Amino acid sequence: MNTKTLPHVVIVGAGFGGMEVARKLAKAPMTITLVDKHNYHLFQPLLYQVAIAGLLPSQIAYPLRTIFRKQKNITFQMGEVTEINLESCYIKMDGSVISYDYLVFAVGGQTNFFGNTSVQQNSFELKSIESATTVRNHLLKTFEEASHEADAEKRKALLTFVVVGGGPTGVETAGALAELVTHVLIKDYPNMDLKEVRVLLLEAGKSVMASYPPELQRATNRLLENKRVEILTDTKLVDYNGQTVTLGDGGHIDAHTLIWTAGVKAAEIADRLGVGQAGSGRVRVADNLQIPNHPEVFVIGDAAHLINGNGQPLPMLSTVAIQQGKVTARNIQRIIKGEKPEPFHYKDPGLLATIGRNAAVARIWGLSFSGFIAWLIWVFLHIYRLIGFRNRLLVLINWAWEYFFYENQVRLITKE
Ligand SMILES: Cc1cc2nc3c(=O)[nH]c(=O)nc-3n(C[C@H](O)[C@H](O)[C@H](O)COP(=O)(O)OP(=O)(O)OC[C@H]3O[C@@H](n4cnc5c(N)ncnc54)[C@H](O)[C@@H]3O)c2cc1C
Repeated sequence: MNTKTLPHVVIVGAGFGGMEVARKLAKAPMTITLVDKHNYHLFQPLLYQVAIAGLLPSQIAYPLRTIFRKQKNITFQMGEVTEINLESCYIKMDGSVISYDYLVFAVGGQTNFFGNTSVQQNSFELKSIESATTVRNHLLKTFEEASHEADAEKRKALLTFVVVGGGPTGVETAGALAELVTHVLIKDYPNMDLKEVRVLLLEAGKSVMASYPPELQRATNRLLENKRVEILTDTKLVDYNGQTVTLGDGGHIDAHTLIWTAGVKAAEIADRLGVGQAGSGRVRVADNLQIPNHPEVFVIGDAAHLINGNGQPLPMLSTVAIQQGKVTARNIQRIIKGEKPEPFHYKDPGLLATIGRNAAVARIWGLSFSGFIAWLIWVFLHIYRLIGFRNRLLVLINWAWEYFFYENQVRLITKE
């Protein structure tokens, strides 16, 4: 193969979108360079399972060099992209320069604290393996501390866990956290009074799961309440200093743990493209995902801002990123053949969120499901979507173990 004459496609970001582009171009006559600051693909929807000691990081992340071992037209380079020059068609990464004929920018998102620095400094987030492991260590250490704290007020604050953001990630985290306490830690700390433990879910809007149909919002409330999660809607957090949450109405909650799931914005590097950005820093793209005046550059996934058929920006979901990856791979090949790129239309596959053991809500094929059936759909879909047979098997074994024995197996406090 004479690679010199082949077009060079550079993909920045090996998340859901970037991986899909790379895989769909596997047989295309081109050279591909895939760049990521990590050497693995991370299945972010299961990060909360790492945080609640249910899964190991290696069960939800897979090495990129292994994934692409057999793909002949691709090279992986690990490194953080710090500069993109759209005029001269190159990117800079850890001192090296990589030029491209086509660029796919799939850098994903990061937590949005909306400029609240004290919340950013004092709260926990779920966005990376490191952040999820930090949450796990903190939760387990907090229980250790509470188990020998004689002062009732201090113990109460240690045992108050606040999750902010009533979207799917907040709901999943609050539900799983409540279960970790009521089913698992209760056995490890037989002398502790678990009635002192509070798990609160704070949501500034009128309802949790606002993007879900009303019947599933009601089901979510019911399922969370069954797990003794306290839901506070219409409740805005204004500050958190690591000890006390201050609410918009002047109220206070003493809590040593706050997990922030209330906002996502495009990854910082998107600001350096120097092109139009919408709210949350997402790059404004044309309907075929190209950026204006640069038909050789595509932005996809969480980093891209495109209005959906319903007049709203497309949600930051893996399903959007994957579908955009497919279309982008096709469009690059179309352009090379001299054809017009096709527009992107999102096909909504439905909604799905779990709320702990036996409990989930789902909207699929126009039907709403809640409880055990929705949970089974969730379990099998997530296992199916994990990369690698070994990971699927290990996760299935872990979940089956947890299911039958009420045990979260990764209850290890490790050095960070
Ligand atoms: C806790 C959590 C739960 C979620 N649950 C769900 C769910 O249940 N269902 C669902 O559909 N979606 C869920 N999502 C959202 C979903 O994970 C994202 O929408 C999806 O990952 C976006 O894909 P992407 O390809 O745009 O970016 P990502 O998958 O985030 O990938 C971006 C990649 O770019 C790399 N990168 C970033 N900056 C640079 C740089 N400067 N240089 C080099 N590499 C860089 C990153 O390392 C990363 O590998 C969840 C997200 C989180 C955080």
